[in-house]
Amino acid sequence: LRRNPGEDEFHQAVREVFDSIVPVVARRPEFVEACVVTRVCEPERQIIFRVPWADDRGRVHINRGFRVEFNSALGPFKGGLRFHPSVYLGTIKFLGFEQIFKNALTGMPIGGGKGGSDFDPKGRSDAEVMRFCQSFMTELYRHIGEYTDVPAGDIGVGGREIGYLFGQYKRITNRYESGVLTGKGLTWGGSQVRPEATGYGATFFAQRMLQTRGDSLEGKRVVVSGSGNVATYAVEKVHQLGGTVVACSDSAGYVVDEAGIDLELLKQIKQVQRGRMSEYADKRGRARFVAGGSVWDVPCDVAMPSATQNELHAHDAATLIGNGCLAVVEGANMPTTPEATKAFLESGVLFAPGKAANAGGVATSALEMQQNASRDSWTFEHTEQRLAEIMNAIHDRCAETAEEYGAPGNYVVGANIAGFVKVADAMLALGLI
Ligand code: NDP
Repeated sequence: LRRNPGEDEFHQAVREVFDSIVPVVARRPEFVEACVVTRVCEPERQIIFRVPWADDRGRVHINRGFRVEFNSALGPFKGGLRFHPSVYLGTIKFLGFEQIFKNALTGMPIGGGKGGSDFDPKGRSDAEVMRFCQSFMTELYRHIGEYTDVPAGDIGVGGREIGYLFGQYKRITNRYESGVLTGKGLTWGGSQVRPEATGYGATFFAQRMLQTRGDSLEGKRVVVSGSGNVATYAVEKVHQLGGTVVACSDSAGYVVDEAGIDLELLKQIKQVQRGRMSEYADKRGRARFVAGGSVWDVPCDVAMPSATQNELHAHDAATLIGNGCLAVVEGANMPTTPEATKAFLESGVLFAPGKAANAGGVATSALEMQQNASRDSWTFEHTEQRLAEIMNAIHDRCAETAEEYGAPGNYVVGANIAGFVKVADAMLALGLI
């Protein structure tokens, strides 16, 4: 705490992992002797930089850029970039820390990192976003590379931003190094299923988890928070698997659509028009928009928080439990507060932590890197099949590890221990690095 003052989310993420790994440290004293636990909390490298850019009226703005290269014991640093006005070092460190264990769980050879900026893309023109991305990459390019550090998208960074970032990297370095960024467009090195991967993956995880209780998503009422990349494709896959998503949200409020969220309309408003959920309700007569308030007030069988950190609080958990919610699956990173998580675990609600449930995005990024390295491109069906297998394997590894450490059904413990042991073993093998 003294070493990282004011980084509340980072402390929260570390505390959650520490609480889970107590029995591991007792079984494996060599982790303590080699200070693995302390070392894993200290990023290998943190870069903070100035990002100057000019808006369409010629006014100059200065933002702050970050890249936290947290752990490369398993492979090159890998993790997204977040552009949101709330971003500060503590946000990037919490995300980077989570990413280490998430990436380990995927079974792919990737380390953990994260980056971003306090730039707010909302309301900015394409030309402004492009100038910002170019300025951001003008510093970032010297720190990244196919074998070093491979960024991707996150909140506020989608296909458009990855395009501008990749274009500037290519221009500065004079190299068409496809493997330096993931989330690229299909015609210039991207992978099928990458845009869908996080939402699809979380839904595959939900399905597998429900199956442990002889149940499935068929006929289930589902509430998804957010309406961005993760939320949109969670809606799509839930509908394909026979469930109905009856509500989703943005930072201004939520929409209730008892007939099921109209995916084409959602995509049109969010992806094409870059509009708001209130516009969805305006266009779709039967839906209602609730300004402010909590989307978790809408009764559901399955809740998929897919917007941002600490968006589902203890009182929301009490509401969901009271409404008979069976499962909570985190599409976002750390969306459930520790108190709410505790309430779900104690009440027997199935609870899938983000570092397991939303790992499908980074896993498919690793598949994109594989395709780039072999100059190949796979079909949608093949890539989706790989994603489904990876999600099932992550689910099973978490469940088995929880069982092995005396916490059957506790996916938080299972994910933290399985991810940590893999990274810690690699760190021991590589010596004092
Ligand atoms: P997007 O930017 O595409 O969408 C974010 C959504 O969450 C928007 O609907 C946004 O609403 C809402 N939101 C963001 N911040 C807040 C806030 N402070 N309060 C309320 N709502 C908010 O991001 P993604 O869908 O890519 O990411 C969502 C979550 O999933 C994040 O936690 C991210 O780290 C995680 N994740 C993403 C992956 C990916 O592949 N993209 C991979 C793994 C995890 P509004 O438009 O009003 O801001």
